Amino acid sequence: MRIKDTYLIRLPHGADLLEVLTEQCRKRGVRVGFLSVIGAVQEATIGYYDQKDRLYRSRQISGGLEITSCMGNISLKDGTVMVHAHILLSDAGGKTYGGHLMSPTILFAGEALIQELEGEPLERKYDEVTGLFLWRNG
Ligand code: ZN
Repeated sequence: MRIKDTYLIRLPHGADLLEVLTEQCRKRGVRVGFLSVIGAVQEATIGYYDQKDRLYRSRQISGGLEITSCMGNISLKDGTVMVHAHILLSDAGGKTYGGHLMSPTILFAGEALIQELEGEPLERKYDEVTGLFLWRNG
C-alpha cells in the first residue's frame, strides 16, 4: 500500500488518547493507515493480553508520564474505524511501562503523526486460534 496522506496533529490537553486518535481518523476519513504519538499523559491505562485466559488485563498508572513511544495502526472492525496502538511510558525516574493502549489514558500534551494508506481497508475478524480480532488478510 502507498501513503495517501500524512497528518501532523496537536492533540488536546485533557483528552483521552485512544478516543481522540479514533476521532481524528473518523473526521479525516482515514480507514487504513498507521500512526505514532509522542508527548505526555496525566494518567494511563495499559493492557496485557493474557494468552491463556484469552482476555485483556489492564492496569492504571497515575502521575505524569512521558510518552516515549506510541505506535499503532488503523483498520476496520464491524465496519467502523478502529485504532490499535501500543504505548511506552516513562516516569520521573526513567522507569518504563508498556502495553496495549486502553482508555482512560488522559493526555497532558500530544503530537500525533497519522499516515493514511491507499487501497482497501483491512477488516478485523475474530480469530479462533488467538481469541483476538485480527486482519482477515494478514
Ligand atoms: Zn494490542
